[in-house]
Amino acid sequence: MKSPVRVLLVGAAGRMGKTVVDLAKADPKIDVVAQCDVGDPIEPAMKNCDVAIDFSHRDAVSEICRTALNFRKSLVIGTTGHSQEQRRTIEKTAESLPIVFASNFSVGVNVLFWLSRKAAELLGPDFSPEIIETHHKMKKDAPSGTAKTLAEVLKAARKTKDEILIQSIREGEVVGEHTVIFTGPCERLELTHRAASREIFARGALRAAKWIVGRPPGLYSMQDVLGL
Ligand code: NAD
Repeated sequence: MKSPVRVLLVGAAGRMGKTVVDLAKADPKIDVVAQCDVGDPIEPAMKNCDVAIDFSHRDAVSEICRTALNFRKSLVIGTTGHSQEQRRTIEKTAESLPIVFASNFSVGVNVLFWLSRKAAELLGPDFSPEIIETHHKMKKDAPSGTAKTLAEVLKAARKTKDEILIQSIREGEVVGEHTVIFTGPCERLELTHRAASREIFARGALRAAKWIVGRPPGLYSMQDVLGL
């Protein structure tokens, strides 16, 4: 059997970090060899892994990219809310390293991206889309990274620069809900995804970690990982 993929987890003490560690215990193809959280130096941990998975905070991204470049490691970035400059850092790093960067690692949401693109193309300009996203009160960024990706998908499919309206709701302990509403003359089409557990994101991130190691440099999406 091939040896397990050695993973460094950044943001290990957080909600997603703990979920990744728990799931990885049951996966013989994954070995979480190092865990970092606030204040831990990333550099020594990066040295001994094959891939780093990041579920921390957007401000950690420059250190993660710099140390991954030093040691030529693959990256799986799940953190959201990056500034334009931070996104450029990720894009520049992906010229030299293979990186999966996904605002949402769930299979269902990636199929929602695909369906939303298809629906926008089929419905045409008579239907205007908008997005509603709901998350738990602790979520730090709004709109969600997933809602922003959905807006990009819709804009590209409609071949327009018109902004897509995004409504963000923060309540209770909702893991994550995204609805795309297409309103046309006398009819509406709604596509909804509801996440019941953070496990779906953790499972997707581990799948991405196994997929990315050994790939050529580039910025890959979860749709690439899933072959959508
Ligand atoms: P959280 O606040 O529970 O956990 C974040 C952890 O990162 C904390 O333990 C914090 O101490 C740590 N951290 C902060 N700055 C750090 C730094 N500089 N270095 C190392 N660790 C640092 O948040 P969460 O719910 O686990 O979410 C984490 C991130 O993942 C958020 O950006 C969230 O939006 C994103 N997220 C993405 C997906 C996806 O599928 N892509 C799914 C869920 C959450």
